[in-house]
Amino acid sequence: MTLRLFNTLSGEMDLLTPADGEMLRMYACGPTVYDFGHIGNFRTFLQVDVLRRFLKLTGTKVRHVMNITDVDDKIIRNATAAGMPIGDYSAGFEQAFFEDLEALRVERPEVMARATEHIPRMVALIQKLAESGAAYQAEDGSWYFRLAAFPEYGKLSKKDLSGMEDGARVDVDEYEKDSARDFALWKAAKPGETSWDTAIGRGRPGWHIECSAMAMEYLGESFDLHAGGEDLIFPHHENEIAQSESVTHKTFARHWMHVRFLLVDGRKMSKSEGNFYTLRDLLLKGYKASAIRLALISVPYRHQFNFTFDGLVEATAAIERLRTFVQRLKAGAFAAGENPALQEAATKAKTEYIAALANDLNTAEARAPIFDLVRAANTALDQGQLLAGDRDAILAVLASFDAVFDVLTDLDADATGRALEWAEKAGRLGEAAPELMARQGLTDETIDALVAERTTAKKQRNFARADQIRNELAEKGVVIEDSKDGVRWKRK
Ligand SMILES: [Zn+2]
Repeated sequence: MTLRLFNTLSGEMDLLTPADGEMLRMYACGPTVYDFGHIGNFRTFLQVDVLRRFLKLTGTKVRHVMNITDVDDKIIRNATAAGMPIGDYSAGFEQAFFEDLEALRVERPEVMARATEHIPRMVALIQKLAESGAAYQAEDGSWYFRLAAFPEYGKLSKKDLSGMEDGARVDVDEYEKDSARDFALWKAAKPGETSWDTAIGRGRPGWHIECSAMAMEYLGESFDLHAGGEDLIFPHHENEIAQSESVTHKTFARHWMHVRFLLVDGRKMSKSEGNFYTLRDLLLKGYKASAIRLALISVPYRHQFNFTFDGLVEATAAIERLRTFVQRLKAGAFAAGENPALQEAATKAKTEYIAALANDLNTAEARAPIFDLVRAANTALDQGQLLAGDRDAILAVLASFDAVFDVLTDLDADATGRALEWAEKAGRLGEAAPELMARQGLTDETIDALVAERTTAKKQRNFARADQIRNELAEKGVVIEDSKDGVRWKRK
């Protein structure tokens, strides 16, 4: 199976294959740990997760490296305001980032690299740039990259940089979108700021040099794929290419994948607009982690995704449909044999599903045949026409689906429980939806015991007690379903 993926660098749909024929080496820009991640950040991490899971599903090994930016302007500003050393300040948000990835079931990259642990590597890179004249030191001791030294600057963003001013400089990590300037590689120490004593002076690295240094440390001078949010194309990724290729004279990353930003209710997400959401905000409102995952991946990565609460409700219902169906298949007793129509439907669904993902990771088109199959199989189930061989074939297709989408196993109560624990410590429990509070502390074992007690009560014709249990559980969001195969329950 070959994956065709849009390549920002070539501007075309290119085949994505490992240069060494074995392992795909990829780098994805990670978080700057100065605050909790918002859903826009997580859309990017989730779409990269779709990529790595699809590669693995189709037999490609992956070496995925992600940086943790634990020193930058914003961290220094916030840590100073909080009166904390930057390491203490960022550690809490780094921990929160990992918890959020786990809640969203984002697979851990093979390598997670902290910027502050790779300072010597960054210094060595700057020294090499200085040797060739591509870096120079300013009066204050900071080091800058000389854009004029890299004539290909702009090749990723396709920006027309003809009006670029030679020697104009910028020292902030993020800067305005349309101005190309010599950018800071190393910032001379300022009083009160965290800094490192190095061969190029006392100071701290700029943001861009981090990614070049760590990508090359773990993946080599030239590697297969670099990914990130579309807002990083310029200047961050353009700068990474300039720094790296000026030293190695080799293509830094052959393939560049960029995930489009999201809108919330049709508008740009911003704190001032009041439509800014972290993952934790949504969990406290009572939305399930699996629904958030599905909603954030179901629109293909190059399309603009409009996040809405209706969309989350739709995703919740879709997951419910799948989980109920799987439960039905696993709990049912089926006669031996195969129904040719269902066998054909299963094969077709799998083929279409894989083909859609192989076509630029079209997650929307990949979802459709799976839900079509579930619909057809439910009808066959109702009519008693689903046989044991069909069950196995359909479960196998769903396993492929879940290898990428990962929403079938219900771990939502864990993610919500951890969010509530955090909210309690952070003094934010007041924001939690009332039904979440009622549901807390209700373990699967407690529910099983209550359901068993209800069954006994019914057998003893104690219907008052049976109804009482049903109502109590319903108030806490647990639904009991009686079917001919027995009693089952689920959390709403
Ligand atoms: Zn980066």
